[in-house]
Amino acid sequence: MRFGFQHGVHPPDAKELTAQVPLRRMPYPEELVLPLKQHAGKPAKLRVRLGQQVQRGDVIAEADGWVSSPIHASAAGVIKAVGLYPHPDGNMQEAVLLAVDRYSPQIPRPRMVPEWQGLSREEVVEAVRRAGVVGLGGAAFPTHVKLVPPEGTTVHTLVINGAECEPYLTSDHRTMVEFPERVIFGVQIMMASLDVPKAVIGVEKNKPDAIEALRRAVPAGLDITVLPLTVKYPQGAEKMLIRSVTGQEVPSGKLPVHLGVLVQNVGSAACIAEVFETGLPLVERIVTVSGLGVAKPANLIVPVGARIRDVLEYCGGLTPAAREVVFGGPMMGVVQPNLDAPVVKGTTGIIALTLDEIVRKPALPCIHCGRCLEACPVFLNPEKLAALAQLGRHDEMVAAHLADCMLCGSCSYVCPSGLPLSQMFSLSKGAVRRRKEAAA
Ligand code: SF4
Ligand code: SF4
Repeated sequence: MRFGFQHGVHPPDAKELTAQVPLRRMPYPEELVLPLKQHAGKPAKLRVRLGQQVQRGDVIAEADGWVSSPIHASAAGVIKAVGLYPHPDGNMQEAVLLAVDRYSPQIPRPRMVPEWQGLSREEVVEAVRRAGVVGLGGAAFPTHVKLVPPEGTTVHTLVINGAECEPYLTSDHRTMVEFPERVIFGVQIMMASLDVPKAVIGVEKNKPDAIEALRRAVPAGLDITVLPLTVKYPQGAEKMLIRSVTGQEVPSGKLPVHLGVLVQNVGSAACIAEVFETGLPLVERIVTVSGLGVAKPANLIVPVGARIRDVLEYCGGLTPAAREVVFGGPMMGVVQPNLDAPVVKGTTGIIALTLDEIVRKPALPCIHCGRCLEACPVFLNPEKLAALAQLGRHDEMVAAHLADCMLCGSCSYVCPSGLPLSQMFSLSKGAVRRRKEAAA
């Protein structure tokens, strides 16, 4: 197999609930909760005081170092409190509570819109950094860091991730259908900034309207290809996408950039374009609200910091059958025990699932059927890893390439014994990380 990847699974995609629902803007709620940690890396440092008036787009927290990202006010209002608030990661995290000015037209301060073609590479990267752009596919890795490849590496291909393989999610789909020129503009800026001659946008074949819209938006003379991809989970995982687009395998322990490839999400591309179109930093994002547990599934433009309960209420609330609310998709998403947690920069979807939609079997002993091995797209042995995890033998898990596990959930999905395999691996990864930090 030269292109495409082996193994993987085919869960029902459930995208029909929102795939054709056009984007609309959610009205501002009364309050917004803005955590200082909304990205991979160090949390941002607070820059506002209680009672301070802010305008939409003002900095409320500065990046703390290179692998960090600033946080901006998503609406005009007053800083009402700073303290610990529920975070989508399940913990209490430091956050700013912003009381939204209900009479404000929410027009940001006039600001310089950088003319990207006149900027040096460093200036483009700095504009992206100052705008707080992070990967919008879920991981929320600061985008400016990726735009500066490590010394000694050269990027020859920019791969744009439009696969959106997680069931239910359609936020990238609607971005591509409704803002194809913006996506392409963002790609063009990244190509120029990285001095990359070629870009490929990978989109699963179940989004023919997005493929068509993007193809129409590519200007003549630019080497940007829109590549339809097989519908298979986890097609949107970075390593799988690179395999599907370039035919190359990212070796264990290496980064895509070591192959000369850099991956960005379509939402991030559109966000970069917006920085150079309007000058507005990342203060809102597109979120899919779906599942049979929500009254009116939708694709919304949501201000960062809106609480889950406010977003759900705007969508008609939960249905009586709703059992669980998940951030992200059902395969890799995080169950939200507290509906006061806010939408953060990395929130792709809010999925309210009913009992019928939750595939949860009672955990039984492993029957050694081998299905998890056939499902794992990175050829790990989940059965063996699970046995080691149960015994707390983390060193042996590391030796069995735990680091290569991307927690995609394919193994858990196929396991007839209902073993929560990827959850076990996630806990083990946490234990290994904490031990490393303690030893440092
Ligand atoms: S969660 Fe990890 S072990 Fe399981 S299928 Fe995905 S990559 Fe493989
Ligand atoms: S799929 Fe489940 S039952 Fe089958 S071998 Fe893997 S862990 Fe065991």
